[in-house]
Amino acid sequence: MAKLNIELIPCLTDNYAYLVYDADEGVCAVVDPSEPEPVRNALAGRGLHLTHILNTHHHFDHTGGNLPLKDEFGAVIVGPEKDRDRIPGIDIGVSEEALWQLGTHTARILEIPAHTRAHIAFAFENDKAVFTGDTLFAMGCGRLFEGTPQMMWNSLSKLMRLEGNMAVYCGHEYTLNNGRFALTLEPGNEHLQWRVAEVQRLREKNLPTIPSAIELERMTNPFLRPNSPEIRATLGMGNATDVEVFAEMRRRKDAF
Ligand SMILES: [Zn+2]
Repeated sequence: MAKLNIELIPCLTDNYAYLVYDADEGVCAVVDPSEPEPVRNALAGRGLHLTHILNTHHHFDHTGGNLPLKDEFGAVIVGPEKDRDRIPGIDIGVSEEALWQLGTHTARILEIPAHTRAHIAFAFENDKAVFTGDTLFAMGCGRLFEGTPQMMWNSLSKLMRLEGNMAVYCGHEYTLNNGRFALTLEPGNEHLQWRVAEVQRLREKNLPTIPSAIELERMTNPFLRPNSPEIRATLGMGNATDVEVFAEMRRRKDAF
C-alpha cells in the first residue's frame, strides 16, 4: 500500500486543517478547512489537486473553506450524515462504522457527539491516523455545546479504544493551556510533567504540538483519566463515578 501523507496547515488564530494525500493514487483531501487561502497555498506549494473535503463537525472554523474550495477544485465534501443540513456543500453523509475510501486508504467513521450533536472522527486505522476535530484535543477535550458529560465520556471512551500507536490530529493548538490545566489535577503524573515541559519548548519556538498519539493521551490527558486516584483526590471525589469526575473536570476547565 502506498503511503498516506499528512501535513498540517495552520488556519485562523489556532486552528489546524490537514492535507491528507497519496500522490501516487492522485487523491488529496483536506480535513476541516477553516478558510480557503492557506489550503490553496499548501496545495500549490506541493503541486496537488484537491479531490475531497472532510468535515468532523459543522462549526464555521472547520467548514469555512468548504464552498470556495469546492468551487475552485470540484472537491467532494464528506461529513456527518446526521448534520447534513449544517455542513455547507455536503455531497456524502457518513454515519457510525461506515468505511469511507480515500483511494485505497480506508477511514472508519466514528460518531463522537457532545461538542456538537453529530460530530464524527475519521479513523484511518491501517495508516495509523485519526482526525478528532474538537472532541479529543492533546491533553484536553472539546466544550459540551450540544451534549451531556455522559455523551462526551462515551465519545472519548470510543476514541480510547483505538490502537495506542495511532497518531491523533485535532482541530486546535490548545495543548499548552490544556497541559497547564492537567497539572492542576494531577501534578504527580511524571508523564504529564515531561510532556508539558516538551510542549512548552515547542511553543516557545512557535512549533506545533500535533500530532499526539492515543497511548500518550491515555497517559496524560485528564479527561481520559477520571479513574486516576490522584485526580480523584484533587477533586475530593474518591467514590464518584467516572462520568461524575469527568463532568467536574470539564466544569473546572470551562472556568480555567
Ligand atoms: Zn467546534
